[in-house]
Amino acid sequence: MPIPSVLIVGAGLAGLAAALELEWRGYRVTIFEARDRAGGRVWTLRDGFGRMHAEAGGELIDEEQKEIRKLAANLHLRESRVLRGGFSHYRTGHDGRRRIRSASPGWRQTQLALESWIHAYRLNGEEWDGPVAEGIASHSVTGWLDEIDAPMDVRGTARVMRGFFVTEPEELSLLTYVELFADGKDPADRTVYRLCGGNDRLVQKIAERLRAPVRLRHIVRRILQSKHGVRMTVEDWRGRRSEVRGDYVLVTAPAPIAAEIEFAPALPDAHATRFHDFATDARPRLCCNLTGIPGAGPGNRALAQQIWR
Ligand SMILES: Cc1cc2nc3c(=O)[nH]c(=O)nc-3n(C[C@H](O)[C@H](O)[C@H](O)COP(=O)(O)OP(=O)(O)OC[C@H]3O[C@@H](n4cnc5c(N)ncnc54)[C@H](O)[C@@H]3O)c2cc1C
Repeated sequence: MPIPSVLIVGAGLAGLAAALELEWRGYRVTIFEARDRAGGRVWTLRDGFGRMHAEAGGELIDEEQKEIRKLAANLHLRESRVLRGGFSHYRTGHDGRRRIRSASPGWRQTQLALESWIHAYRLNGEEWDGPVAEGIASHSVTGWLDEIDAPMDVRGTARVMRGFFVTEPEELSLLTYVELFADGKDPADRTVYRLCGGNDRLVQKIAERLRAPVRLRHIVRRILQSKHGVRMTVEDWRGRRSEVRGDYVLVTAPAPIAAEIEFAPALPDAHATRFHDFATDARPRLCCNLTGIPGAGPGNRALAQQIWR
């Protein structure tokens, strides 16, 4: 019986981890990566820091990020616990001075101020659909702060959360904020880790284990699905286009970038529009033709059915 082949778009952590798992399950995998390096948004800088390094991308691993922690442990990477005193903010306080302050008081006050919204959100089953969610989402974080004439610590917390949401509170939907604070955890209680030696060690270790070639500087331009499998048009660094064939394709590019790929047959309008709408988030994944892969995992199959019919 021929070995089924999977073409993976993107050599970020999602693409690399999927490749490793698919190889363990016996698939033949090829990865196409637009950049000249693997890792995507995991990017450890080593030049100019002596024997130290800096994380320019994904940095902290939460205790609850079990999958990535398991993966790192399986690859014999050590974690080091950081921020033992919890998160702090550099901001102005009641004394009018800017300095590093614990995130906890502002966090607790924000949680209290959001109580009625959190209650409504929970009653709604923590769903992002329906009139309750829409009602919450119709406010921006700044709009809400103005409505309640929020105290300084609550405003300061919203301002510093820019770094977390990568957007200004003026542009951030209150729904996102309510979801975060409904979680109920105090940042001071969080247990977070970094990988010893830099997060790119994870990328390197996976790459070392893979039999799959990682074709760097290859941009996937078009994906055509038929009943015989998938054909992908790939553009190399010289601008030359070629076609590769596989049984399945797994797209791990972030949604707004995946939306630039031409799909045939075209994605349903609603999905295509949503991909354009996602500004920065990497959570949505597009799985094409994964439906039939035995053992590919119920999550993937469900997602494939949901997205690609
Ligand atoms: C500054 C920063 C800090 C962060 N901090 C944290 C943190 O502390 N904790 C945490 O858990 N997460 C953090 N993240 C998020 C985390 O880094 C990402 O969620 C994760 O790395 C995403 O991995 P991915 O494989 O899903 O996507 P990506 O890493 O984006 O990989 C997608 C890959 O697909 C490639 N690609 C795109 N289009 C094409 C195409 N057409 N053809 C071929 N290749 C293509 C891209 O070049 C990229 O390499 C941070 C991110 C940033 C930017």
